[in-house]
Parts: sequence; C-alpha cells; structure tokens
Amino acid sequence: MRVPAIAALALLAAGPPVRAAVNVMTATEDLADLTRQVGGDRVKVESIARGYQDPHFVEAKPSFILKLAKADLLVVVGRELEIGWLPPLIQQSRNAKVQVGADGYLDASLTVKILEIPTGQITRAMGDVHPLGNPHYWLDPDNGRRIAKAIADKLARMAPADAPYLASRYADFDRRLGEAEKRWDALMALYKGLKIVTYHRSWPNFADRFGLDVIGYVEPRPGIPPSPGHTIELIAEMKRQNVKILLVEPYFDLKTPQSIGRETGAKVLVMPPSVGGEKEITDYIQLFDYDLGLLVAAIKETGAK
Ligand SMILES: [Zn+2]
Repeated sequence: MRVPAIAALALLAAGPPVRAAVNVMTATEDLADLTRQVGGDRVKVESIARGYQDPHFVEAKPSFILKLAKADLLVVVGRELEIGWLPPLIQQSRNAKVQVGADGYLDASLTVKILEIPTGQITRAMGDVHPLGNPHYWLDPDNGRRIAKAIADKLARMAPADAPYLASRYADFDRRLGEAEKRWDALMALYKGLKIVTYHRSWPNFADRFGLDVIGYVEPRPGIPPSPGHTIELIAEMKRQNVKILLVEPYFDLKTPQSIGRETGAKVLVMPPSVGGEKEITDYIQLFDYDLGLLVAAIKETGAK
C-alpha cells in the first residue's frame, strides 16, 4: 500500500504542531529586546515606550489598551518608573493575566542589583521620581543578564514544552554578552575614575560597571528641572574637579547643558540610555557598543581623564 506511506511522509514533513507564540508586551524597548533574545520565535513582543522617550513620562496611548488586552505577559521595569502612565493602561485592558501580581505580570526589578535605595523617607510628593531606588538599572550588563534569565524562566513556566529552547537561547545570549563585556572592559580600561556629570540620574549602574565617577547632576533631584542656584553650584564644582564631559539623555532640553558647557568647557554629549534611542541601536548589546563608542570618542576629543 503506497498511499498511506506517502501520507505518513507528508505528516513527517509538516513537523510537530505549531504552537502559538506567547504574546508579550513590555514597558520599554530594552525589555522588549531582552525578551526577543531569549524568546526567539516563541514570542511576539511589543514595547509601549519608545527608546527615545523619557521612560518616566510616556504618553499613555489608548491603542496600547487593546494590545494589553490580548497580552499573555507584561514585563515592566518597576521601582515606580512607569507609575505615571502604565497603571491606567493595565487597569483599562481588563486583562486578568497582566494585572499587577498576576502570573502574566513580571517586574524585572525584582531580580537585579538596585542602587540608590533611599534610606530616609522619600515620597513622590517631594518630586523625586526615584522613591524606590534607581530604576535605570538595565544599564549594567549584568542586570541585563539577570533580566533575560527572569524572562526565560517566566516563559518556560508559561510554556513548559519550550523550556529547553528557552534555556539554550538564554545560554547563547549569556555567552554573547560575556564576550561583549570583555570588549567593553578593554575599551574602558584606560578611563577608570573618569569624572562626569549627567543630566538625570540615569547612569549609576552604568557608571559603577564601567568605573566612571558621576560628581553631579543638572537636575537638582531626579525629575526636578534645573534651577539657576543649582546650576551655578554645579558649574563651580565642575570647574573645581575639571569635569570635561556632560551626559544628556536625548529627551531633555539642551539649553541648560549647553550653557554649563560654555562656562566649563565641558563637552555636552547626548547619549541614549535605551535600545531604540537611535535607529542604529537595535538591540541590548548594541546599546553599550554605541554608548561606550560615543563616550570614548568624547574622552579623546576633550582630553578628559
Ligand atoms: Zn529616572
């Protein structure tokens, strides 16, 4: 009987049944890329915030309510980074899976190293947008590694049959990130202790990891716009410590940074803190390649050390 044999071959050629991809929404593009790195073709991922936006202040477009309504998993940065825009989207999605604390809600900050956890009483009423520690923690590659692991583990619990695939994707990401870290360490080896100033407190994890010393901020407190008195003090301190580099996240007004640059001779360097912050920055490893490349070029240009 030849026909059944052919039918059997056709079945074999079709392969195992195709499972639907897990539908993932993330708060930021960094989390979206880390999800893609480990999830591969088993996930469909979209970020709500764009990498060129201030992640504290994102426009809560209603179109995201519909997308969240269909999501299986929502990955957030946490530490109240998204408190100004994400809660109403989650609530209005009426999707039980992704409500805070549900199985499909993953707070990436729970497995990473968090810096600047306040010791005293700090509330948002004081205007500080980092009341639970610094939420820009993805800018240390080891935290990126931990986030990727947390996402892989979560996806494996949601689709146990995919666990081996997810584990091998994670192992491959871990290996590529490790190789990149060697490259970054070699690039930054000469500049340990370099003094810089940044606009917002976006870079403590980055500075810690790459040996930079952030001696001041353009914002008097995270989320509080520059004030003349604070700017004058900052200029004096930058002159005293001979700071030649001022990092500015792409979504801040350059007026104050440029006047500080004129007064101190420091270079104003616009540096994106997220995947998607520039169109070349399409993934998490490229984010560091891009930023460290910009930084080293600025160091060489200004003769800072
Ligand atoms: Zn912040």
